Amino acid sequence: MQRGEVPVVELSLLKVQATETMEYCAREALQIFGGAGFMRGNKVERIYREVRVYAIGGGSEEIMRDLAARQLAL
Ligand SMILES: Cc1cc2nc3c(=O)[nH]c(=O)nc-3n(C[C@H](O)[C@H](O)[C@H](O)COP(=O)(O)OP(=O)(O)OC[C@H]3O[C@@H](n4cnc5c(N)ncnc54)[C@H](O)[C@@H]3O)c2cc1C
Repeated sequence: MQRGEVPVVELSLLKVQATETMEYCAREALQIFGGAGFMRGNKVERIYREVRVYAIGGGSEEIMRDLAARQLAL
């Protein structure tokens, strides 16, 4: 990026990877917290609920993968 390049493929797949990782972590955190992690006001509940917004907002997994595939002319 600092060299003025826009690595669209890498950035697209990185967003997918990052949000899938966040989703996994949120799931594991809720599993560890059990019922408490489900209660409103608990930070884990908030992250678990909001993780889909990060995954969908700004380009869902399908859109980012499609973008990367098009850039690679697959
Ligand atoms: C809390 C919140 C805050 C937001 N803030 C902003 C903001 O600040 N700025 C902004 O610009 N937008 C914002 N958005 C909008 C957000 O970027 C869109 O919700 C997101 O891009 C998905 O678009 P959509 O909701 O129209 O869903 P759709 O585009 O209808 O997608 C619904 C589903 O269909 C799938 N899909 C759609 N098209 C294809 C395709 N061609 N191939 C395969 N699958 C497809 C998607 O992957 C998704 O799973 C916000 C949304 C939320 C919920």
